[in-house]
Amino acid sequence: MDNLKSLIREVPDYPKPGILFYDITTLLKETAGLKGVIDGLHECAKGVKVDRVAGIEARGFIFGPALAYALGVGFVPIRKPKKLPAATERVEYALEYGTDTIEIHKDAIEPGMNVLIVDDVLATGGTAAAAAQLVEKLGGKVAALAFVIELDFLNGRSKLPGHRIESLVHY
Ligand code: AMP
Repeated sequence: MDNLKSLIREVPDYPKPGILFYDITTLLKETAGLKGVIDGLHECAKGVKVDRVAGIEARGFIFGPALAYALGVGFVPIRKPKKLPAATERVEYALEYGTDTIEIHKDAIEPGMNVLIVDDVLATGGTAAAAAQLVEKLGGKVAALAFVIELDFLNGRSKLPGHRIESLVHY
């Protein structure tokens, strides 16, 4: 996956001083980058029973539908508050300062469904853990969580005990 890594742009001090932002737009614009990342995520899901893919706003919306298409299943969005029009389930989670909330439509997942959660980056794991809770609140099973990038030094995995986690590129 070193070829994918070479296509990811590292932007220092974005969105605030001290943060090194991993920008996947430089990967997406290249034919080999887009194909490599979707094929890579598809490969990660080999042997995993998946009934539906759930993508986390916003960059999970780039990878999720393409992966769902490759797997031959449907896609559902997990969104920031007040973006989804029908009845929602919500989970609030802690940030470094304050809290954040994500929502899913109540009818997005049927009880017993195996759900693959997708996002671009696994950092501290707070967002992904909240997404897993949302799926479970609806009676779904988290089949796996797949990321393009995992920031190993932040140990986001520790917030997702017992879950299968796949990441294409590690820093
Ligand atoms: P976390 O809840 O800390 O795991 O943060 C995950 C979310 O924040 C993902 O949806 C990423 O899009 C974004 N994110 C966190 N850190 C970075 C980073 N260094 N570069 C790019 N995106 C990031």
